[in-house]
Amino acid sequence: MEDEIGFLCNFCNKEYTIETRDFRCPCGGPFKLNWTPKPFPISHLSERRRSIWRYRESIPIMVDDNIISLDEGFTPLIPFSYGDFKNILLKLDYLCPSGSYKDRGASVLISSGGGDCVRQSRRRKGDFGNRPSDRGMFRNRLGERNHRGVERAGTEGNLR
Ligand SMILES: [Zn+2]
Repeated sequence: MEDEIGFLCNFCNKEYTIETRDFRCPCGGPFKLNWTPKPFPISHLSERRRSIWRYRESIPIMVDDNIISLDEGFTPLIPFSYGDFKNILLKLDYLCPSGSYKDRGASVLISSGGGDCVRQSRRRKGDFGNRPSDRGMFRNRLGERNHRGVERAGTEGNLR
């Protein structure tokens, strides 16, 4: 399974394709990703865009054309101190495109297979995002064709 992505049972090591609709093995074992990331060119990283996709080789997406990104990631760290607590670094994830740290996961989820992957996350009670703006921003990037898949990704509470 060199270039393919699948799942592997943590208990019995049974292999599953990425298309499985199961969320765990019948033996009760949770899945882990069965995939080997490629090394990325460290010397050329600074030439790439400042987003999570700078590390493309370590993100398990098979088709580059499926990547949907709003340039998530690379939010700044700022020094902060409070009382006796010195040398604190605050990560300003509210500067992500939708204001949520979940933009990174949303980009990877949508890029991994559009509607099919989103449907799987719903079955696993995954959380696509906690803000309506998450869905709206990615919906705009995805276009109308995948719009329904994004809507299905939200839990009941997220859709209100
Ligand atoms: Zn198993």
